[in-house]
Amino acid sequence: MPPQPPPHGTTLIVRAGRALLPGGDWHNPAPADIAIAGDTIAALAPAFAPADRVSPEELNARGHLVLPGFVNAHYHSHDVLAKGTLEEVPLEAWRLYALPPQYPPRSVEEVRARTLLGALECLRSGMTTIQDMLTLYPFEDRHLDAVVQAYDEIGIRVVFALQYADRKGLETIPYWSEIFPKELHPLLSTAAEPERQIDLLGHFETTCLKAPPHARRHWALGPSAPERCSEALMTRTMELARRYDIPVYSHIYESRGMALQARLTLPEHGGSLIKRLADEGNLDPRLNLAHSVWLGREEIEFLGETGTGVVLNPQGNLKMKCGIPPIRALQAANVRIGLGCDNCSCSDAQNMFMAMKLFALLAAVSDPIPGPPQAAHALAAATEAGAEGARLGHAIGRIAPGMKADLTLIDMSDPSWSPMNSAVRQLVHVEAGRGVRHVIVDGVVVVRDRKLATMNEEDIYDAVEAVMPGFRKDFGAISERVKRLQPWLDEAHRRFVDTELEFDRIYIPF
Ligand SMILES: [Zn+2]
Repeated sequence: MPPQPPPHGTTLIVRAGRALLPGGDWHNPAPADIAIAGDTIAALAPAFAPADRVSPEELNARGHLVLPGFVNAHYHSHDVLAKGTLEEVPLEAWRLYALPPQYPPRSVEEVRARTLLGALECLRSGMTTIQDMLTLYPFEDRHLDAVVQAYDEIGIRVVFALQYADRKGLETIPYWSEIFPKELHPLLSTAAEPERQIDLLGHFETTCLKAPPHARRHWALGPSAPERCSEALMTRTMELARRYDIPVYSHIYESRGMALQARLTLPEHGGSLIKRLADEGNLDPRLNLAHSVWLGREEIEFLGETGTGVVLNPQGNLKMKCGIPPIRALQAANVRIGLGCDNCSCSDAQNMFMAMKLFALLAAVSDPIPGPPQAAHALAAATEAGAEGARLGHAIGRIAPGMKADLTLIDMSDPSWSPMNSAVRQLVHVEAGRGVRHVIVDGVVVVRDRKLATMNEEDIYDAVEAVMPGFRKDFGAISERVKRLQPWLDEAHRRFVDTELEFDRIYIPF
């Protein structure tokens, strides 16, 4: 049959790219044309004939790999400006830098600048969707408005959650209350605890969940971590999630200290936060547990049985001395695994190529017996699993008619791609982000020829420079304060490392 014209209503044709299609050959994908009508993929064909009437825009993708845009399934935009500030900081100490309540209130300009800069980095590295789990402290509506507005303007898809909790950090970390002198205790909380001041969840429901729908904005709920949230708050969160059918993002067992705390303080739940959530009726396919490094075998089975997902963030876990998640055991239990790049102050780079490569390589460390090749799993985690975790699996994460047109185009005229032996392996193990040339979100070319097309990139960098003197001054003061706590922080961390954890060691942490 001769080539057919693209369907009526086609607004953009991505021509002759080698597209990674569901069920297709991810090693040697054939060139295909993708017709996009408005925000949706309308049709795919080996080649479309020229359109009959109105000529849609054409994007020449010859020599490019076309993949579903990455879903950064765990990210926080509140500390974008702190990238590169820290090194060798264990998680419990890091939280005092990243989320101290002692920061003076931030300006709207700073909130806007950091939101745009983070979104820009994500877009330029091929992410079309980000899950922002944002702490705004002290909470102000004008800051929330600035964030939402910034995402709208830059054109990225966002699954947005405010982060909240109702228990103080000091109460949730082993040994801290006995190790630190009493007068230092007020310095040991973090800002992810505003629920005590206002009913953030109620406010979020009224202002966000009940707002009219928006094309690229999706809501989610962000209880900081089960140990930092009472049963009442977790249950209320899950009830809201079910009522609005939205996802929930939380943190679990990132560090050894977090697992230790559960073992020490939850005897009625077998020393397990996962069991606690199960006993509360709060394990659910809507729930995504970031990190999940220190899970026991039974806990993994609970996740698999209840459809609860995890989001792995290997870069931040390594930098903060946390360890390696049990990747192969999670896969064997059919647990949904998304990938994220977490905070800028802990993993520094919003780069899904790094996350995919670490995922694929660390699977070899989490289980030294060779298993299935991991490149395709890494790509699926970075795309469709992240989409499913966001309850958007019907709309994004795959290239197929009827899906939203969220695409990333990689220029293969680069040493990384010569010779091209396997698209998916080279994407995961060779490409580092240099090849990201065009990014399409919701049918709009948001990055064209490696430049942001929706806004002036230089304006974003200028806005960041304008707020940096204030940020550096305040971050410097916070750093001095944390340094004063260093001897006790070190002692506590050493005790976490030295304490034998009595639970199923199912993998080799290092
Ligand atoms: Zn996080």
